[in-house]
Amino acid sequence: MKRISGFLLHLLIAFAAVTTSATGQTVVKAKNTTLARPKLVVGIVVDQMRYDYLYRYYDKYKEGGLKRLMNEGFNCRNNHYHYALTVTAAGHSAVYTGALPAVNGIVGNDWYDKSKASNVYCTEDKTVATVGSSNVTVGKMSPRNLLTTTVTDQLRIATNFRSKTIGVAIKDRASILPAGHAANGAYWFDSKTGNFVTSTYYGNELPQWVQDYNNKKMPSEYLRRGWNTLLPIEQYTQSSPDDVPWEGTLSGAAKPIFPHELIGTAGDAFGVITTSPWGNTMTKEMAIAAIKGENMGKGKDTDFLAVSFSTPDRIGHAFGPNSVEQEDNYLKLDMEFADLFNFLDSWTGKGNYTVFLTADHGAMDVPAFWQEHKLPAGLMNPTTLTRTIVKSLNDAFGEGEYVQAFENYQLYLNNALLKEKKVSIEDVYKVLRETLIPVQGIADVINLTDIGRAPLNTYQLELYKNNINAKRSGDIQVIVQPGWFASSYGTGTDHGTPYNYDTHVPFLLYGWGVNKGETLRRTTIADIAPTISALLHILPPSGNVGNPVEEALKK
Ligand SMILES: [Zn+2]
Repeated sequence: MKRISGFLLHLLIAFAAVTTSATGQTVVKAKNTTLARPKLVVGIVVDQMRYDYLYRYYDKYKEGGLKRLMNEGFNCRNNHYHYALTVTAAGHSAVYTGALPAVNGIVGNDWYDKSKASNVYCTEDKTVATVGSSNVTVGKMSPRNLLTTTVTDQLRIATNFRSKTIGVAIKDRASILPAGHAANGAYWFDSKTGNFVTSTYYGNELPQWVQDYNNKKMPSEYLRRGWNTLLPIEQYTQSSPDDVPWEGTLSGAAKPIFPHELIGTAGDAFGVITTSPWGNTMTKEMAIAAIKGENMGKGKDTDFLAVSFSTPDRIGHAFGPNSVEQEDNYLKLDMEFADLFNFLDSWTGKGNYTVFLTADHGAMDVPAFWQEHKLPAGLMNPTTLTRTIVKSLNDAFGEGEYVQAFENYQLYLNNALLKEKKVSIEDVYKVLRETLIPVQGIADVINLTDIGRAPLNTYQLELYKNNINAKRSGDIQVIVQPGWFASSYGTGTDHGTPYNYDTHVPFLLYGWGVNKGETLRRTTIADIAPTISALLHILPPSGNVGNPVEEALKK
């Protein structure tokens, strides 16, 4: 009989707990003595990425990018937004807070503040200043309007603020809201100077690595290169012809066709890059620069990079989902992902980091494109709609400024005037409903101040309820028909509705702690933050309402 040394015996006791199961069998379970976590979490949001883009271009994606996440990670294929107003700021906040807009307060990109009688931009903050640019307005930003914590905040709290969390995106809100309140930094693009900037909320100086990136002057180089297709143009078989009437044009361009010249305007020298795939290239370069510059994923505690690719949204709004431009953009974005994952393999070691990928909302196809194929869709003119609303209220209650703001298809009513005229919100609602229901493209009108009595189906009712914040939401909600939106442009597309094309977005998990597989069980955006929280063994964010996707996580 072999003799077990005292040291080895000690080790066995430390690593194994011997228990007796219900069937009487002895079960030996390995027991970790320290808590295991990935070295780095990289959260990726692709702005306006609809679920079907994973498959629409699948055959053309290369290995190592999206296919790596889809085939080696876990794919929640039936993942949806859980509220009605599907826009960028609300989406990024919901992903990282696991909360409802009703609770986290980010009910739109903009809303109206009745107490101040002014419009509010989601991340505006007049108490801070720009860092890294002569543009004074670009950096007056912070996460202060976000009312709950993020998963990035919770990681900071859980590690006694040793974990580093950084946000990077072209759009300010897409960088600031995911990075959270306690972030080490958040960086976004100033289209006037071509610099990545931050605000004094985070610090008084740009870190050296951001200054180094800005000094490379990549935006000038990308403007010079212009935008050509990756493949010969006849291979873009998933798209309409390159020149169709419902595509917008880039600044200075006569037609929406390849090759696109990238020409800045006098007041906005570099903005045009963000509507070309180079916007994604810069975002990836900044993501890698952040990881290197902040030495993320090398310490004892898990770090978290929140990166958002804003360009797909800009291209969608300009050219629409069925354009050669968007197909080309996704083929190139997929290659940027492969680059990023290869970098992460070499930086932290393969299997030592966790990635998730989702989107802040989807998008409708361009209504004119659907109409051409006899599909139900259309555009409403916002000016005509507003005039109809104003006229109906003046006719019913006498002349007056009844509507203070019209944002997110919500009317913010003038309470003082209503009081003076002895008109209730219910009275206004009844007039508007009668006026607007006959309008083509409008499905219904509901009174948000009395939503419990709204004559709406229970599914949509919940989505609208999830949006209502008493201090920030309007009084009356106009609900558009599926396939319809209000726009004064006849080109490009939009989002912001409770319909499938806007709610159904990817949710992919990959890497440390993640099982290989997929589910068609319905998951929601609110499940993302608690899934990452479960993976990290941290408390989910303060307003979280979601649940971990248990089948995606290794036991
Ligand atoms: Zn967006």
